Amino acid sequence: MKEKIWLSSPHMGGTEQQYVKEAFDTNWIAPLGPNVNGFEQDLELFLGDDVHVAALSSGTAGLHLGLVLLGVKAGDEVICQSMTFSATANPITYVGAVPVFVDSEADTWNMSPQLLEAAIKDRIEKGKKPKAIIPVHLYGMPAKMDELIAIAQLYDIPVLEDAAEALGSSIRGKKCGTFGDIGVLSFNGNKIITTSGGGALVSKSATVANDARFLATQARDAAPHYQHSQIGYNYRMSNLCAGVGRGQMEVLAKRVEQRRSVYVQYEQYFGDKKGITLLQEPAGYFSNRWLSTILIDHTVAGVSREELRVALEQENIESRPLWKPMHMQPVFDGCAFYGDGTAERLFADGLCLPSGSNLTEADMARILAAIEKVISK
Ligand SMILES: *Cc1c(COP(=O)(O)O)cnc(C)c1O
Repeated sequence: MKEKIWLSSPHMGGTEQQYVKEAFDTNWIAPLGPNVNGFEQDLELFLGDDVHVAALSSGTAGLHLGLVLLGVKAGDEVICQSMTFSATANPITYVGAVPVFVDSEADTWNMSPQLLEAAIKDRIEKGKKPKAIIPVHLYGMPAKMDELIAIAQLYDIPVLEDAAEALGSSIRGKKCGTFGDIGVLSFNGNKIITTSGGGALVSKSATVANDARFLATQARDAAPHYQHSQIGYNYRMSNLCAGVGRGQMEVLAKRVEQRRSVYVQYEQYFGDKKGITLLQEPAGYFSNRWLSTILIDHTVAGVSREELRVALEQENIESRPLWKPMHMQPVFDGCAFYGDGTAERLFADGLCLPSGSNLTEADMARILAAIEKVISK
């Protein structure tokens, strides 16, 4: 069997071990320490816009704390992009709230502004104004944030921006993660940079970032003994993981460049292949191209998404269907959904291709040869 080619695997830059060694040498083996502070500063500097960052144990923890900090309570409704990973929607239920799912639009595959407004109007008419809106930048492609935020402001509903897949992406230079009232990043093992596991909460308000740090460390009041007047969580990032993050921040720009170069190679290859399309950047949009994705119209391409996926699997090459929309998931059965069939079509026809920044020339050649074998049939 040939060596496995992964969809997206960790890619160390080289200096991570130095930061981790420093943590050992100084015995900062805790969910606080100089690497945590340093990693937060690195992220603040990179994101710009005077944001404040709280480093956390995961992106999921960031979304959970984001909902808590926005005041979402049991019984409230939260509007959520349907086409996404379950980690976007699950935290809504952690606070006892109920998700209302909204479909994607075809340009970015993210939340449709038109359907968002239709959903808000209908929920208000039914007697319940949504308490928050969660758009996602899928696969690194920024959602239509200008339009989504304009609607959110019109109805005075806060935006919790799931930028877990979009560190390094931007719209007209403004970085993903800085658009929402609160933004969330992930450093899980398969993301564009990793801390092995980790996440961050981003806010323009220093108070909100401080509140996130407070809640993430069990909500201890200022007192010599342990005193609590709020429910807290154990969600802070460890100083070891933050050390890996500091090393990864040194190569983030390079990782974005490498992922974009993988995309360009697919674009060149699929350019003349009928029935197969890639996701283009709208004018002014910049995607980190976390994953390169294709849509296959099997009636034209002569091969289906699933046939291609299985053929790649036989060559020990990992690919994956696009996210199965949340409104189609058994666990969210019965939740309200506002849609026009876009996410369902994307799920039926879409495939994520190997996209790691560590793919070699030989890997790319192997992947394209395996694809060629199926679609030239
Ligand atoms: C990875 C991911 C998350 C969750 O991040 P973790 O750090 O794995 O908890 C949330 N939303 C989206 C869209 C993701 O891809």
